[in-house]
Amino acid sequence: MRIFKFGGASVKDAEGVRNLVRVLEETGTEKTFLVVSAMGKTTNAMEAVVDAYFNDKPSVSSALEAVQTYHFGILRELFPPEGHPVHEKVRSLFEEVRGFLAWNKSPKYNFVYDQVVGYGELLSTVIVSAYLNDSGIRCSWLDIRNYIKTDSNYRDVSVIWEKTQSAVSELSNRSELFVTQGFLGSDENNFTTTLGREGSDYTAAIIAYCLNAESVTIWKDVPGVLNADPRYFEETRLLELISYREAIELAFYGAKVLHPKTIRPCVENNIPLRIKNTFNPTHDGTVIVPDNGNGNG
Ligand code: ADP
Ligand code: ASP
Ligand code: MG
Repeated sequence: MRIFKFGGASVKDAEGVRNLVRVLEETGTEKTFLVVSAMGKTTNAMEAVVDAYFNDKPSVSSALEAVQTYHFGILRELFPPEGHPVHEKVRSLFEEVRGFLAWNKSPKYNFVYDQVVGYGELLSTVIVSAYLNDSGIRCSWLDIRNYIKTDSNYRDVSVIWEKTQSAVSELSNRSELFVTQGFLGSDENNFTTTLGREGSDYTAAIIAYCLNAESVTIWKDVPGVLNADPRYFEETRLLELISYREAIELAFYGAKVLHPKTIRPCVENNIPLRIKNTFNPTHDGTVIVPDNGNGNG
């Protein structure tokens, strides 16, 4: 099994979603599992909704409207304007958030945050999976909250490995292409939880660990892990091969290219981790492997 994770930057607009189809046409989809983040900066936009809810209630609806307009714009470019079931699915997700905010009685910021912000990934995966099916790549939308079980330390939960392992293992004897949400889990009362910002990489690693996958590929808008952040440095160099240990050090010193928790589950099962460019899928990118090949990374 290969786990592919597509980040927000790779699906930030209709062109990104079309490009994802091209990547899959290039790589094939056999024994592949897709983890997708919220589109573009949706998580930040949903955080603004939560802030409005706690600090300035009247502005909640315009904050949510902005998220809706953005997603409706993408829908318009990808699907016929009427008659396609994706429109109703997306509309009902927005209805759910509005309903939650209208009825919620909890004053707990972190709890509300997880219930609301998680819709970013629900929206992106509904759209991506519908578009894949329309493009002839058969896939099944999977609600990862039924599989990744966590404690209730909202916004920074810990995975309950035993429960997660047994739930995810059930998927190993199914052969379809799954499209699921990064970043999300659920607690023992089935409330949505989130794994921490940028946590979709971690989701891919959790699934990989539980399925004992052969590899994890994190698809990005950069050629791979670079020796410096290209947003701040003009001359960067691609690191083609690094060890788990080097990757941990990079993450530790703040390289915002891989969520630090991603490495451990891969180390445990010796699963190579690749960072590749969504816009240049045949290029090798970076591969992160055990130190000295002995798995002691
Ligand atoms: P996504 O969520 O789509 O995976 P992010 O925007 O979170 O994408 O991460 C990709 C960005 O990480 C790149 O566009 C790049 O600017 C930044 N980045 C920071 N440090 C590095 C690095 N060492 N190598 C590559 N990219 C880096
Ligand atoms: N969408 C979440 C975030 O932006 C998780 C992720 O993209 O990894 O933090
Ligand atoms: Mg990101």
